[in-house]
Amino acid sequence: MTTTEVIIVGAGPLGLELAVALKRARIDYVQLEAGQIGQAILDWPAMTRWFSSSDRITIAGVPIQSVSQEKCTREEYLAYLRGVVMQFDLDMCTYERVLGITRKDDLFTVTSRTRVGTMCKRAARYVVLTTGGMAAPNRLGVHGEDLPHVSHWMADPHTYFRRRVLIVGGRNSAVEAALRLYHAGTKVSISYRDAAFPDKVKYWLRPEIEYLVKTGRITAYFETVPIVILPEHVELRPVGGGRHMSIPADFVLLMVGYVADMSLFRQVGVELSGVRDVPVYDEQTMQTNVPGLFVAGTATAGTQQSGVRVFLENCHVHVDRIVASMTGNPPPPTPEPVSLPEA
Ligand SMILES: Cc1cc2nc3c(=O)[nH]c(=O)nc-3n(C[C@H](O)[C@H](O)[C@H](O)COP(=O)(O)OP(=O)(O)OC[C@H]3O[C@@H](n4cnc5c(N)ncnc54)[C@H](O)[C@@H]3O)c2cc1C
Repeated sequence: MTTTEVIIVGAGPLGLELAVALKRARIDYVQLEAGQIGQAILDWPAMTRWFSSSDRITIAGVPIQSVSQEKCTREEYLAYLRGVVMQFDLDMCTYERVLGITRKDDLFTVTSRTRVGTMCKRAARYVVLTTGGMAAPNRLGVHGEDLPHVSHWMADPHTYFRRRVLIVGGRNSAVEAALRLYHAGTKVSISYRDAAFPDKVKYWLRPEIEYLVKTGRITAYFETVPIVILPEHVELRPVGGGRHMSIPADFVLLMVGYVADMSLFRQVGVELSGVRDVPVYDEQTMQTNVPGLFVAGTATAGTQQSGVRVFLENCHVHVDRIVASMTGNPPPPTPEPVSLPEA
């Protein structure tokens, strides 16, 4: 079994930023990624734009420049990540999922499975979990959720041209999908459990969605929840009671958030608090209650429901804290919270 100083689990933007920092600090590491680098972003619908401005999502000090000066698209950002990996010549094992972590005599054993099913075991002094917070969509648990025309992800907007789509949800991803599909010639309706779109809807999306709803171009069923999904329509129940509505829909998009997979944390003995499974860790070092086991990135927040507060853009400091802790240096100062409206 090979032994290394650090094993990084996950190669999302934060895991990659950490890899660059370890390389710069000449600390030996191995990076294991279940999918491709930036897999969570690769899973976004084509041409989705980041909500954060580009300077907030750059990693390792490498600037992002775009031809349009707009916020980055999924495609631009994935190309950027590939460029960072090439620039720093980062080594990593992609398509290799970590299945187990155990700790004995101050050494971790990390078990993983490659794409072709080969089982691997590696030992390390430190493990950093940068496994993100969006392992799977949040399920509503309604009858019909698994029908083929129902999805938690928007496909290419072309898919829905001149068809009826019901979007369930009212936060940024749902609103953005509604606008994109409307402009792609789709008959869009929205079911949202609250009485209006929440304050958190981005300021550049809100005026347009409100205008399209007000003018009847998009139909919004506020204060409703789906109770059954059938092949050609969805039954909505008003939250406050009353008559159910039957809404025709050729496709149904359930855009109601994601859940984190905290099974590795649980398995290795990290304490998880509350219903969101938030790992317990020291804010100055990012070390969990398991000595030598660190957490970084959006994984620090467990499952983020009813309001996402931890994003890539406010996680960069985790990298400096971890490297400082591993090299015996004092932790970096805590950055001032950013009050940009897009943050
Ligand atoms: C539509 C949309 C828009 C968004 N816009 C923004 C935005 O504007 N600004 C922002 O800051 N955030 C935004 N986010 C959230 C963004 O995706 C996260 O902030 C970012 O990806 C977090 O990076 P991370 O490295 O912490 O985790 P992730 O990017 O989730 O990376 C985790 C990695 O770990 C890997 N992994 C998980 N389990 C294992 C395992 N067992 N073994 C090996 N590898 C594993 C995963 O495959 C993944 O590649 C948005 C999300 C969505 C869906």
